Amino acid sequence: MAATQYPQALQHVMSFFSRLPGVGRRSAERLALAMMAWPEQQTEQFGQALLELKNKVRPCAVCGNYAEDELCAICQDPDRQRGVLCVVEQASQIIVLENSGSYKGLYHVLGGKLSPLSGKGPEELRIKELAVRLRQGEISEMIIATSPDVEGEATAHYLAQEFAALPMTITRIASGVPAGADLNFADAATITMALSGRHKL
Ligand SMILES: [Zn+2]
Repeated sequence: MAATQYPQALQHVMSFFSRLPGVGRRSAERLALAMMAWPEQQTEQFGQALLELKNKVRPCAVCGNYAEDELCAICQDPDRQRGVLCVVEQASQIIVLENSGSYKGLYHVLGGKLSPLSGKGPEELRIKELAVRLRQGEISEMIIATSPDVEGEATAHYLAQEFAALPMTITRIASGVPAGADLNFADAATITMALSGRHKL
C-alpha cells in the first residue's frame, strides 16, 4: 500500500517553504500545516505581501540597498555622513551594520564577491556603479567590509588596487575579532570593534 501523502495543494506550499535557507522538509511541513489553520483573510494578506515584495521593493538606484522609492532611506537621509562609504557584499548586511548603531555613513552593495571558481568576475559585481560614485569626488574614505574569507579578501584587494589612484583613504574592517567574524552573524559589539579597528589598505 502506498504511503499516505498530504493533499497536493499542501505539498505544493511545503515545496516552496523547503526552498528557503535553513528550512528542511520537516520544518516546511510544520509551516505549511500551521498556515492551514490561518483564517482565510490572513492567507490572502500573506499572498498579497509576497506579491508586493517583488513589486514594491527594488534595489536603490545609487547604493543597491533595499528601497521602495528610487533611492533607499539611507541615501535619502540628510543626516548621514556623505564622505564615508562602506562597501558590503549584500544588502542584508546593511541591516546588520545599521543595527549596531556604530556607522553613520553611506553604503555600496557589490552583489557578491569575486569568485573565479564560480565564474564571478568584476563585471558581475556593481563595481562600475561604485567607480561612478567614487569619481564624483565626495567620498574621503571607503571602508571595505567584504567577508573575512579568501574571496572576500581578494575582493577587498581588487577594490583597493582599482581605486588606489583616487584621493581618498581606503580601509578594511578588522577581522578576527573574534576570528572569522562574519558580518551576517556578528553582534553589535563585534561590528563596532571591526569598524573601529579598521586599517588602511
Ligand atoms: Zn541607497
